[in-house]
Amino acid sequence: MSTFQAPKGTYDLTPPRSATFLAVREAISAPLRDSGYGYIETPGFENVELFARGVGESTDIVTKEMYTLTTKGGDQLALRPEGTASVLRAALEANLHKAGNLPVKLWYSGSYYRYERPQAGRYRHFSQVGAEAIGTEDPVLDAELIILADQAYRSLGLRQFRILLNSLGDKECRPVYREALQTFLRDLDLDEETRRRIEINPLRVLDDKRADVQKQLTDAPKLRDYLCDACKAYHEEVRALITAAGVVFEDDEKLVRGLDYYTRTTFEFVHDGLGSQSAVGGGGRYDGLSEMIGGPELPSVGWALGVDRTVLALEAEGVELDLPATTSVYAVPLGEEARRVLFGVVTELRRAGIAADFAFGGRGLKGAMKSANRSGARYTLVAGERDLAEGVVQLKDMESGEQTAVPLTEAAAELAKRFG
Ligand code: ATP
Ligand code: MG
Repeated sequence: MSTFQAPKGTYDLTPPRSATFLAVREAISAPLRDSGYGYIETPGFENVELFARGVGESTDIVTKEMYTLTTKGGDQLALRPEGTASVLRAALEANLHKAGNLPVKLWYSGSYYRYERPQAGRYRHFSQVGAEAIGTEDPVLDAELIILADQAYRSLGLRQFRILLNSLGDKECRPVYREALQTFLRDLDLDEETRRRIEINPLRVLDDKRADVQKQLTDAPKLRDYLCDACKAYHEEVRALITAAGVVFEDDEKLVRGLDYYTRTTFEFVHDGLGSQSAVGGGGRYDGLSEMIGGPELPSVGWALGVDRTVLALEAEGVELDLPATTSVYAVPLGEEARRVLFGVVTELRRAGIAADFAFGGRGLKGAMKSANRSGARYTLVAGERDLAEGVVQLKDMESGEQTAVPLTEAAAELAKRFG
């Protein structure tokens, strides 16, 4: 093993690819920021019970994937495996739901940790951008979130993604379905672990990826046939609203998702260029979660989009983001005196809001011009002893190749004019 190696299942973001990650986070959050969602940040770890109760004792996330630790003081903590439980905990702690302004709409961006078997698109450290709308039961809110995620992906230039939609019912109709499903599943030929799952969380058996299990599920009772009238009407309204917005989706009766807290609207974004790790994001309504973690009744809905897989999806579709060069002006000093003078100009440019960089380390003209090119700067400022003696700097337009001598005292103003 090399000394310089990130831990298994993790990777570093380094330039230039890191710029794409930043742009993706920016693009996913932009529609949220424009739609009344406020930024929230919570700690990277929480008390372990929050996830045990909030994500669900029977989920893979809690039973297998969570990084747990005991602090020196004896506290049981877990690195956060997902965002929703933390965001809801923080909103309750800050009493945001009592400010008389429901729904509380929040967005977040951060690192999440799951002890998984690493493979393409599946890591032990990954990043998500998410949104939660807390405290309101309104199909328009579910529709808003689906439409904003669709808008985010489209703004990135992604086209080969699909939206899968389902309703999981509520506390009235889901238990009836659950029992019918259990009765059906108990008669199948399944292994011990799956049999246990039937008793704890039968809906998750529907999500089993194995072909021999899926084959036996063809005639499983369908949740759709058990939805109560209120859930049916709610779901139809969500479908009508996103259809009216021109968002294309597919009804997927088998979509259940891996977390226990979902009710009613459930959706997943999948990308067809990603192989088996095809889910780029998912979410849904979680009307019971607040009570599960000890809060008041606060019907809510949200989603989380995976940044890593979104970047892989861009690469799979061959989408190159149009990222503007980060440096506008690159200064190349030739000699000691020029270093001091040009560094002064660079500082002045930066203070005027013009992105500027500098050839450090007293490099020769040729090497420094190479760096200038690589920086993507539109202009280069070059000055040597003779220029300084004449009180000028050479301003080179890197696109046209045209070079003009500009009085030193006017260099920053001249550039500000050109960028203005
Ligand atoms: P999967 O079915 O792929 O395990 P999930 O249902 O566990 O996904 P969620 O908990 O809904 O995923 O998280 C939302 C998004 O976060 C996923 O759609 C995915 O893009 C991303 N994600 C989840 N786990 C990982 C991981 N281990 N590595 C990279 N991205 C992940
Ligand atoms: Mg998972």
